[in-house]
Amino acid sequence: MALIVQKFGGSSVANAERVRNVASRVVETMQAGNQVVVVVSAQGDTTDDLIEKANEINTNASKREMDMLLAAGEEISIALLAMAIEKIGASVISLTGWQAGFKTNAVPGNARIDRIDTERVQSELDKKNIVIVAGFQGLDKYDNITTLGRGGSDTSAVALAAALGADRCEIYTDVDGVYTADPRICPNAKKLDEITYDEMLELASLGANVLHNRSVEMAKKYNVRLEVKSSFEKVPGTIVKEVTNVEKMLIRGVTRDNDVARIAIIGLEDTPGIAFKVFSALAKYGINVDMILQSVGRNGTKDIAFTVTKECLQKTLEVLENLKDTLTYEEVTHRDDLSKVSIVGAGMTNNPGVAAKMFEALFDADINIHMISTSEIKVSTLINVANAEKAVRVIHDKFNI
Ligand code: ADP
Ligand code: ASP
Ligand code: MG
Repeated sequence: MALIVQKFGGSSVANAERVRNVASRVVETMQAGNQVVVVVSAQGDTTDDLIEKANEINTNASKREMDMLLAAGEEISIALLAMAIEKIGASVISLTGWQAGFKTNAVPGNARIDRIDTERVQSELDKKNIVIVAGFQGLDKYDNITTLGRGGSDTSAVALAAALGADRCEIYTDVDGVYTADPRICPNAKKLDEITYDEMLELASLGANVLHNRSVEMAKKYNVRLEVKSSFEKVPGTIVKEVTNVEKMLIRGVTRDNDVARIAIIGLEDTPGIAFKVFSALAKYGINVDMILQSVGRNGTKDIAFTVTKECLQKTLEVLENLKDTLTYEEVTHRDDLSKVSIVGAGMTNNPGVAAKMFEALFDADINIHMISTSEIKVSTLINVANAEKAVRVIHDKFNI
């Protein structure tokens, strides 16, 4: 008898018909002789709708109360799915994240799972129940409800699979696997049979939201066999694992991430310690900086541009404003109509032509690049958001993946 953790995303449980579809798939897995634990997300756009509701009341609500509100979305789903399974006649119980033992750190809105006390889930499995668990949520050490960051239900599922020592973790979603680019943007994208944890982590971190990046990190750490599959069609999905049999492709995928804002500090005095001053001040406020560009100094001044997530933009501007007394600069400008478009692939190490080929694709499409950053496994470019989808398509075509 295998123990399988199955996770169903928001679109997979968006309405009554889809909840019934999930119920019958889960019961089928159980009837095939398996123990089943199911993690579910909030239905359809519920999380976005709840955020909108909060904004109608207070655009500056505390993260603690936001978590209290958002956790409600997943709680609706677990009860509805359990009811649908009861109707089929199978034994089932739904559990909130904290009933299922998810203990997190005390970082509301973006909590990390510290541990899962699995006794309750285990005892329900021993009673031959299908166990339905609310994704995306846990409890901190002060007994506050926390959420794991947008898309976090994937991480709930992988963490639970690791804690229970499950045989595998299946992530069911509205596409039938991981593609070489978002299939909704790029019709030529190809489904990957297998992908390594490292490559998937890079794709997820650079905007391929088919998997929450922390879920991949966790799957790698605990060696959880992950499978991304369609909740609508019964076709093989993509397996995420340590080593793949597939020959190393030069480029594994193309991604875009529109959650980016660029800040430029113009006319900074060109003396040692300036970058340290700027970035240590930002780090003090927990602001994560991504791409950084520093211009060649001229007439004793230089410019520094960098990117942060949109959520951090206001705070970043405030921090820089507060530095005015200790830092000499002409002005700070910012933009949030940008997108980071990246190529990912372990095969690009020692392939100097790769970046140039990507830039050529953008040039051919008359797309201007504002910033560039590279690593052994990726090349990222910052471009206007209006061009992002076209950029994904032309780069994908150029590499002929
Ligand atoms: P769920 O609600 O099931 O968690 P998500 O919307 O979070 O689903 O993730 C699935 C979506 O991820 C797909 O609908 C697809 O548009 C998007 N996506 C982005 N990049 C990729 C990729 N490389 N392969 C597959 N899907 C991708
Ligand atoms: N419901 C949450 C969200 O929309 C978590 C998830 O879907 O994974 O971000
Ligand atoms: Mg998701």
